[in-house]
Amino acid sequence: MERLLRAKTLIDDKILYLKQKSQALSKQGLKPHLGVILVGNNPATLSYIKNKEKFCSRIEADFSLINLPEDIEKEKFLEHIQRLNEDHSVTGCFVQLPLPNHFNDLDVTQMINPLKDVDGFHLKTIEKIYQGDLTGIIPCTPKGIITLLEANNIQIKGMDIVIIGRSYIVGKPLSLLLERKNATVTLCHSHTKDIKKYTSQADIIISAVGIPLLITKEHLNPQNNQIIIDVGINRYNNKLVGDVDFESVKDHVKAITPVPGGVGPMTVFSLMENLILTTTNILNNQNKGSL
Ligand code: NAP
Repeated sequence: MERLLRAKTLIDDKILYLKQKSQALSKQGLKPHLGVILVGNNPATLSYIKNKEKFCSRIEADFSLINLPEDIEKEKFLEHIQRLNEDHSVTGCFVQLPLPNHFNDLDVTQMINPLKDVDGFHLKTIEKIYQGDLTGIIPCTPKGIITLLEANNIQIKGMDIVIIGRSYIVGKPLSLLLERKNATVTLCHSHTKDIKKYTSQADIIISAVGIPLLITKEHLNPQNNQIIIDVGINRYNNKLVGDVDFESVKDHVKAITPVPGGVGPMTVFSLMENLILTTTNILNNQNKGSL
């Protein structure tokens, strides 16, 4: 294998810039402040949130967690979202997913104030991307993947890119972004007849499914020149692994992201970039309003 596409060095290089932006916003009167609603206390989810809190402290942003009981009533839960949406001190917010089953009929992603939509899941946010405008908020995981590719000088334009998984948070927005950057994108999913047919032809393979060992050496071409981005996060044999059978493919690719240490930290870094952007936009709106 030529290269392991780790996130750490890249983030260490870029985080100072975000911290300086955050300090400048605070000086101008609006400190970046991430507000998070968590329902229940699943240890894995809590550890994701702790990581987001750590990143906030690295860029000198405030962080608030509203941790609600698993059996909270719907009305009370919705009141908390509204309060966060209206709280002038909070400049970016999201509800940590997944939610308990009794909230299955709620699409909370559409209840977040679009001005504070740091996750980038609101339809108003996606609409802009759909129209080809990439200057606003971009969903965190797709944004992190593009940053990782570009920082490693991996060409996107003209490349054949296969994405496996078409979820609203990863595969779909990622396909829009890569298409906008002039890649030819194929989106595979659970009904795709023969995934190998597509992966073996691709320059870049991105797997976002949630099944360990799904992608093996048999999915690759024999030239050892493909790039693999592994989005999956799975518990397997008491270990955290991706969708890709790392041991079977590692010597047959040009570059690959590790799990953990690849797309995961890039996602949290993108959340911080989005927080700086929402804070900047809110401050600009306030300044326009006071003119
Ligand atoms: P999701 O909403 O469950 O979507 C999974 C997608 O995979 C669906 O489009 C599904 O197809 C497709 N799929 C399921 N089985 C398949 C198969 N056998 N062959 C091909 N496609 C198949 O999942 P998600 O939220 O996108 O997350 C996917 C994985 O990425 C999970 O492991 C998650 O933990 C991880 N993740 C990681 C990050 C990160 O920062 N690293 C961020 C988000 C998610 P259908 O549409 O046909 O059902």
